[in-house]
Amino acid sequence: MSAHYDIIIIGSGAGGGTMARALAASDARILVVERGTPVPQEADNWNPEAVWKHLRYRATERWLDRDGAEFLPYTHYGVGGNTKFWGSVLYRLRREDFQSVEHLEGESPAWPIDYDTLAPYYDRAEQLYHVHGQAGGDPTEPPRGPFPYAPIAHSAGMEAVVEGLRRQGLHPSHLPLGLIRPGEPDGCVLCSTCNSFPCRIRAKSDADVCGIAPALERGNVALWTNAQARRLITDPSGRRVESVEIERGGERVLVGASLVVVACGAVNSAALLLRSANDKHRDGLANSSGMVGRRYMAHLATMMQGFNPLRRNETVFQKTVAVNDFYFRGPSSPYPLGHVQSQGRTHGVMAQTVVPWIPVWAYDAWVARGVDWLAMSEDLPRPENRVTITADGRIQLHYRPNNLGAHAQLVQETTRMLHRLGFWKVMTHSHKSKNTTHQCGTLCFGIDPRTSVLDPWCRAHDVGNLFVVDASFFPSSAAVNPGLTIVAQALRSADHIMATDLS
Ligand SMILES: Cc1cc2nc3c(=O)[nH]c(=O)nc-3n(C[C@H](O)[C@H](O)[C@H](O)COP(=O)(O)OP(=O)(O)OC[C@H]3O[C@@H](n4cnc5c(N)ncnc54)[C@H](O)[C@@H]3O)c2cc1C
Ligand code: SF4
Repeated sequence: MSAHYDIIIIGSGAGGGTMARALAASDARILVVERGTPVPQEADNWNPEAVWKHLRYRATERWLDRDGAEFLPYTHYGVGGNTKFWGSVLYRLRREDFQSVEHLEGESPAWPIDYDTLAPYYDRAEQLYHVHGQAGGDPTEPPRGPFPYAPIAHSAGMEAVVEGLRRQGLHPSHLPLGLIRPGEPDGCVLCSTCNSFPCRIRAKSDADVCGIAPALERGNVALWTNAQARRLITDPSGRRVESVEIERGGERVLVGASLVVVACGAVNSAALLLRSANDKHRDGLANSSGMVGRRYMAHLATMMQGFNPLRRNETVFQKTVAVNDFYFRGPSSPYPLGHVQSQGRTHGVMAQTVVPWIPVWAYDAWVARGVDWLAMSEDLPRPENRVTITADGRIQLHYRPNNLGAHAQLVQETTRMLHRLGFWKVMTHSHKSKNTTHQCGTLCFGIDPRTSVLDPWCRAHDVGNLFVVDASFFPSSAAVNPGLTIVAQALRSADHIMATDLS
């Protein structure tokens, strides 16, 4: 054994980075283990060609799909995880998302906690991640106080869009956004390269800036980068993790820990538990329920662009508007359809990745006259949608998207909405089942150990000193962005650890 820590946190993204920040306040000696390296601050951060054409920051690992074909998952390994690249749209789930909701293709199950339980942690999460927003404008908003920071003002162009949406009888609202000191000297400059790009000036509220960096300022937290957790090793009883096998700089080391927090992202955390099978956990660690890796969800997402050849879009920072009028039901459907949000500006080189033979100047001319949107619907947890490990240790994602009818209706309603706004043509694009950006649900939390992997504080039912605090715990995917809920639950788990395991 090369060393021993009180706590090892594996992964430094939304869950792990937040957990590190919260537990840093204790006296515990903490090691954060991250398989990637820090994202360098460099000109390429904001270069669409580097990010979209050369995939400068993307994970290079290939996963297998349900047919065994290789694909490049849309994910990133590095300090801060995927939050370095997120759009920083930081939503609370709706109150109803915590309850059982009937959808077109079945039930979205209830969570073991309700909205009121998580609400105080959402408050703290919004403070920690500098969330800007306006309470009261969104018809689906759960009960809440004011946002910690005022909303980001719409550009003139988006203000006109908002007025047009109101004339349609819709209720556009401000997107809640995690940005640091927007418009202030040394703060966020509200640029056009935010969503899917790392922030060159560290003004995005990500898990590196808001979690890992402040945690490291305390003497009790260490960070190992380029260090991949390979297996969790239990004691002979199988009831406690004793150590973590880590591959670091080409070497395998064993590091002991009194408590282990896994936060590798929903796919990699399930993979780590499956790879950690032993004679007490033959089907994977903490898998007496058989649910490890199952119920994978990822949202149904379609990028949409309204195009008007006569109207140049001068907006730089476009990501400020949300439409939740179809969240609980559609105009001609009693079932939830989902959420619509304006997106960051598409750059010609990004659009060219869809049909590469069209020259980039043609795309540039096109996107200069377009306004970008994202339509997002809930997909439902199905046991057969799952992560498995092949005999040679590779990740295989068996995912067949569901609730497609509801999503098709949402895209149709959004198309109508854009036509009514005066856009002549509406283009759509979806990564379909290969979109892993909102992966969640593979280690579901719940009260019953027979049907869930984690308890309501994200402690493994089967292994007393093991927590998982990334997007794995989601029992349902809801239809808003997952990040703030991961952060809030990590803060809640950290409080629980401090009260029960560190006291
Ligand atoms: C382009 C993009 C835009 C997005 N926009 C938004 C948005 O606007 N709002 C929102 O809420 N969400 C957004 N998301 C989703 C959001 O980023 C994720 O939901 C969130 O980061 C998930 O947090 P996590 O802790 O589960 O995992 P991650 O943030 O992915 O962190 C997992 C970490 O674990 C590390 N790791 C993995 N395996 C191992 C291992 N074996 N050993 C050591 N380390 C390991 C990884 O390198 C990574 O750093 C976006 C995602 C992308 C890619
Ligand atoms: S400056 Fe602001 S808008 Fe631009 S990448 Fe950074 S956080 Fe995003």
